[in-house]
Amino acid sequence: MQVRSPRTVAGRGFILQSFYQLSFDELQAACDSASYLFNWHYKKNQREECRHNNISKKTKLFMSGVSLDVPTIERVELSADKTVKFLFKLHDGGRVETVLIPFRGKYTICLSSQVGCAMNCAFCFTGKQGFKRHLGAEEIVGQLVEAKRWLSENRPDDHRILNIVYMGQGEPLHNFDNVKRSAEIFLSRHGLSFADYKITISTAGYLPGLERWQKEMPTVNIALSLHATDRERRNELVPINKKFDFEKVIELADAIPRGDRRFVTYEYVMIDGFNDSDHDARALGRMLKGRKAFINLIPFNPFPGAVYRRSPDGRIAQFKNVLDGFHIPTTIRTTKGDEILAACGQLNSSPLAREGSAP
Ligand code: SF4
Repeated sequence: MQVRSPRTVAGRGFILQSFYQLSFDELQAACDSASYLFNWHYKKNQREECRHNNISKKTKLFMSGVSLDVPTIERVELSADKTVKFLFKLHDGGRVETVLIPFRGKYTICLSSQVGCAMNCAFCFTGKQGFKRHLGAEEIVGQLVEAKRWLSENRPDDHRILNIVYMGQGEPLHNFDNVKRSAEIFLSRHGLSFADYKITISTAGYLPGLERWQKEMPTVNIALSLHATDRERRNELVPINKKFDFEKVIELADAIPRGDRRFVTYEYVMIDGFNDSDHDARALGRMLKGRKAFINLIPFNPFPGAVYRRSPDGRIAQFKNVLDGFHIPTTIRTTKGDEILAACGQLNSSPLAREGSAP
């Protein structure tokens, strides 16, 4: 593999290649201390360049041309349930949000893959922000690296990140190359060493990315945003449905190689009076019966300017009851961090949202 050449960024001229965009193999090809460096920066979480005597001159020379910069934490919001939302500032002034979701003293990290999002899903605050740009792999990896550092400095007793979900801002498969590269870096046994079943990449059904997934993506989990079973309502909630045929999307997701006990997760946002009737549950059950499917019911999370309301708890429980009759494993997602707009569908890093009003 070739180490990529340094990038130029419009208006900023020449910038250095980032350490956090390099796979282990690329680093190994470029210098002779890749294990040491992955251990130093990923396992030991070190910010500063390694100056240890074990590092060869060749490695030092190489690293002198490599940036260790990561997105900087501009703001941290904490909720009563221990959810943490970070606002990250990027090198060009762009911003993204990242969330740490607590579970029994450990965390799942929800990563962003783009500044804004082009998909414009109707139930999602990010969709209202519009699309600005893709994140580089180093900006995706950097969110986790900095969140880990923040945890070890601020919550040293419960600082483990066990799961990674690409469910923050952006459609991950629209930024396929950088998302794939970041997942490979997370998986490297020399560094962060996540197991593939601990990483989930979510998609609204971006067909070109799914077509590449089978051949190119490591064997991480996939989650598909379904939200409605008929064309008309899915067109409203997930407008790219008009462009990419959802039957083809499901077919492709089904064909993605997975371990014996792995499922495709289907996400279904529960909107009061819109898609939450028993009839809708039966349609969903019929659609997914016989597939290796896992359903995640997500109570709609309100945001400024939203036109939908969350289904009542009793309705969501009844919807699940109907699905249980189809013997499809189904969970209801616990809402965490909604008072700081950190729950599913609530992220928005645009200036207007940061000032407290919808764009
Ligand atoms: S739900 Fe995901 S794909 Fe849809 S607008 Fe929000 S971030 Fe983009």
